[in-house]
Amino acid sequence: MIPITSFAGKRVAVFGLGGSGLVTAEALVAGGADVVAWDDGEAGRAKASAAGIRVADLRAEDWSRIAALVLSPGVPLTHPEPHWSAKLAQAAGVEIIGDIELFCRERAKVAPDAPFVAITGTNGKSTTTALIAHILKAAGRDVQMGGNIGRAILSLDPLTPERVYVIECSSFQIDLAPSLAPTVGVLLNLTPDHLDRHGTMEHYAAIKERLVARAKLAVIGIDDDWTAAIAARRAEIDRPVVEISATSLLTEGVHAEGTRLYRDGDQLIADIAGNGSLRGQHNAQNAAVAAAAVAALGVDDATIAGAITSFVGLPHRMEEVGRIGATLFINDSKATNADSTEKALAAFPGGIHWIVGGKPKEGGIASLASYFPRIAHAYLIGVSSDDFAATLEGKVPYTRCETLENALTAATANATRSAEAQPVVLLSPACASYDQFPNFEVRGDRFRDLVLALPGLIPATSNKGH
Ligand code: ADP
Repeated sequence: MIPITSFAGKRVAVFGLGGSGLVTAEALVAGGADVVAWDDGEAGRAKASAAGIRVADLRAEDWSRIAALVLSPGVPLTHPEPHWSAKLAQAAGVEIIGDIELFCRERAKVAPDAPFVAITGTNGKSTTTALIAHILKAAGRDVQMGGNIGRAILSLDPLTPERVYVIECSSFQIDLAPSLAPTVGVLLNLTPDHLDRHGTMEHYAAIKERLVARAKLAVIGIDDDWTAAIAARRAEIDRPVVEISATSLLTEGVHAEGTRLYRDGDQLIADIAGNGSLRGQHNAQNAAVAAAAVAALGVDDATIAGAITSFVGLPHRMEEVGRIGATLFINDSKATNADSTEKALAAFPGGIHWIVGGKPKEGGIASLASYFPRIAHAYLIGVSSDDFAATLEGKVPYTRCETLENALTAATANATRSAEAQPVVLLSPACASYDQFPNFEVRGDRFRDLVLALPGLIPATSNKGH
């Protein structure tokens, strides 16, 4: 845990007692703050009480005695409207911050030179964060990874001058971290997302820009107009920036050409072709960004290339589960919308046995029509089956399978008997899982377990089964 000493002797209100909220309260107490915590749910309050945190309804507190409100990132700060706790703080002129802000202040106080890589973007944050941490570990660094991925930031090991912090930041977390000033700030890409919580695209982009604005070095993917404009603004004021592209050749910066990553035009850094979990152009963007970020911290290209090859990827994102003969089994359960599934379909030229469906998003799978020729057969599961059958009718052969189990059985039989050179059984549902599973992780775990139990299956060496 990282004890937070900047509020020693002061009263701090903590709202939201999920995983990160509870750790935040504990870290503040460990640093000497007088914490009063609350959550709208009984379960969070009970956990905090059991952990020895003072739990009291913040509506009954004397806000003139409170130094700060620490809000969980899941609690609305602005849109659709501020949460009642945020309104109380605003009315009393009390600052509202999050756990990443507490980390930044503590770092400034006790280890201002501790290398700190902060990563954001609309897509690819977790993959890139995990890859950066992996490369740094391979380079022998003492690495702590957390934030929006895995462990809450304040549950990480205490700050030391050499310890490297690799932190994934959601826009909600950035919004609550006004003094965020990482050593390396990484912005991958920007497309409309979470606008219900941010209002407009302009507001969303402005929040994301804050992560790189005060970074010593900014690493920015420039393959969309929003991030390209942010990189240009940064260059205009002569602040260090490394531009990244997976779609154009760059004479300065890092770009990907197919699976190869180059620096400043023609300096080959690494080839991601050997890594099955980094298939697709989107992963070339993630890898190029990661290479630039770690190079800025002094990691040499040979180490980067080796570590990119040994990266096992994250579960549920183009995860290779194994093979039966030439047939490859891929768990892409994280693909809960058509945009994500598009990335998976784009990564295979053909022979795709596609397990698809669940609780559909608006628009369904119609936007994927240009990839339909790559699909050998579709296996429909979940409540979206009627809709998706209508979209596929006359274009892609399909079977209504209802359940994941039936779909895998049918897909395995077809794929392993097919004449295709490299058949792929791909779970990439383009749907939320909630009609049949508690979440996409349970759906992906189930798929992995079922695949691993298939007769004749050879598990992938990188298999992340747990
Ligand atoms: P995040 O943490 O931002 O949600 P992940 O690394 O977990 O991102 O990837 C989630 C999904 O987003 C992947 O399964 C893939 O479909 C898509 N994705 C990953 N990286 C990118 C990228 N650089 N650009 C666009 N889409 C991406």
